[in-house]
Amino acid sequence: SLTAGIVGLPNVGKSTLFNAITQAGAEAANYPFATIDPNVGIVEVPDERLNQLSELVNPKKTIPTTFEFTDIAGIVKGASQGEGLGNQFLSHIRQVDATCQVVRCFRDDNITHVSGKIDPLEDIETINLELMLADLETVNKRLQRVEKMARQKDKEAVAEYNVLMRLKEALEAEEPVRTLTFSDDEWKLVKGLQLLTSKPALYAANVSEEDVQNPDANEDVQKVKEYAAKENAEVIVVCAKIEEEITELDAEEKAMFLDDLGIAESGLDQLIKRSYQLLGLGTFFTAGEPEVRAWTFPKGIKAPQAAGVIHSDFERGFIRAETVSYEDLMEAGSMAGARNNGRVRLEGKEYIVQDGDVMHFRFNV
Ligand code: GDP
Repeated sequence: SLTAGIVGLPNVGKSTLFNAITQAGAEAANYPFATIDPNVGIVEVPDERLNQLSELVNPKKTIPTTFEFTDIAGIVKGASQGEGLGNQFLSHIRQVDATCQVVRCFRDDNITHVSGKIDPLEDIETINLELMLADLETVNKRLQRVEKMARQKDKEAVAEYNVLMRLKEALEAEEPVRTLTFSDDEWKLVKGLQLLTSKPALYAANVSEEDVQNPDANEDVQKVKEYAAKENAEVIVVCAKIEEEITELDAEEKAMFLDDLGIAESGLDQLIKRSYQLLGLGTFFTAGEPEVRAWTFPKGIKAPQAAGVIHSDFERGFIRAETVSYEDLMEAGSMAGARNNGRVRLEGKEYIVQDGDVMHFRFNV
């Protein structure tokens, strides 16, 4: 499954946030946690639609879908030259599908900052520079191999050479790869290189307890937002410390606590939802009496593959999927009602699954 890697300089609040993630996840008793890598935190994806469906169907069990974060410790200045845990760090980022960079926007004189001052843009640039240098090295190595073949006018090599040269130019100008636009074919080549700055990026601006209510009053948050807009990245605001405290509360207490603070949605919930969207993931539902459940799928897949998310047998023996959109089902008030309204469609092998579809698969065993 797809995962977002949490990165950031030392003392910016990564561990605090990751603790909140693992503690929040521990409540989901539906998953075999014993087998999970300690650097992976699994969280439930908050989805109001699941609660509504559950109220409608009144099932024995309601099971949310989950999302994985990976804790990637150890970036320091010079990582691309092997400083600190440099190479190890970079290879861990290579394995994640998106990066979530925690940026220190809280001030606390008791907590030292690696570079001696709080300057979120400088922090972001320090990290991004290491990632771009590592990418440049990957591109240069590949160029050396492709150049010769390209000179012999090998068609594929020429195409790759041109893409590599564009990448090289951009990286030398300190532009992350995700800011470039490519044709589908070119993008396939770029993807194959697994460049660190080609991955979707999200910044988590970690603010003080005092700032959560009105984060835009924090100049550092504003700066991070401006910076992110320029490089096709997104920003969410969290107070890692509050998130860590919230995980100890039950749902009702959490809602009251957030309400007192004047926050509609916890930073962690926002982080989960945005990471999910950033990775192009959607949710479909199955809604039977024994169980109402949310499932994650990569947007663009067809009905049989969605069935395969549940079980590989479902995909192999796929016949069709009874499908109703969440909105239509809620409007009709029941599955029978939706059927009467003609809102339940019989979809076949070519149907492209939509976020919010409520599906019932028919299959041969
Ligand atoms: P890491 O090195 O990036 O993993 O940073 P830590 O999570 O260990 O945090 C470093 C210090 O900053 C710890 O003492 C945290 O308690 C503190 N810290 C983290 N987040 C916040 C926050 O939102 N507000 C305040 N005041 N302190 C925080």
